[in-house]
Amino acid sequence: MSAHRLQDALDALKSTRVRMTPQRHAILEFLYESMTHPTADEIYKALEGRFPNMSVATVYNNLRVFKEAGIVKELTYGDSSSRFDSVTSDHYHVICGNCGKIVDFHYPGLDEVETLAEHVTGFKVHSHRMEIYGTCPSCQGEKVNH
Ligand SMILES: [Zn+2]
Ligand SMILES: [Zn+2]
Repeated sequence: MSAHRLQDALDALKSTRVRMTPQRHAILEFLYESMTHPTADEIYKALEGRFPNMSVATVYNNLRVFKEAGIVKELTYGDSSSRFDSVTSDHYHVICGNCGKIVDFHYPGLDEVETLAEHVTGFKVHSHRMEIYGTCPSCQGEKVNH
């Protein structure tokens, strides 16, 4: 399934003018296979052994290119550690307050909230973000063991 999605992303990229390089391919592959919403730094650490000349800035710049091409989504949290998501369709996230892990959570889109917000405030609403916070199963396990 992730191989299929990766191929779709590569095809989508081919239709833009973005040149595919081994580095770009590796970054995309990692993002699509990990499903963990990694930061640029985490991707860099996972791939630096294969690409000794690569820097965190290179990874980040490539992620920006992918974002502009519409094949990854950037999740900003008000600090420098943006996380990147290979699932670009609308979905919600459950976030572990202990280790920061982000897990996809599928729930019908709350479109009526947007409609109501528009109605009440007069804003032209284009999106919304809902996040669920808690403690992930592996962090719960840690607490029991220590
Ligand atoms: Zn956790
Ligand atoms: Zn996600």
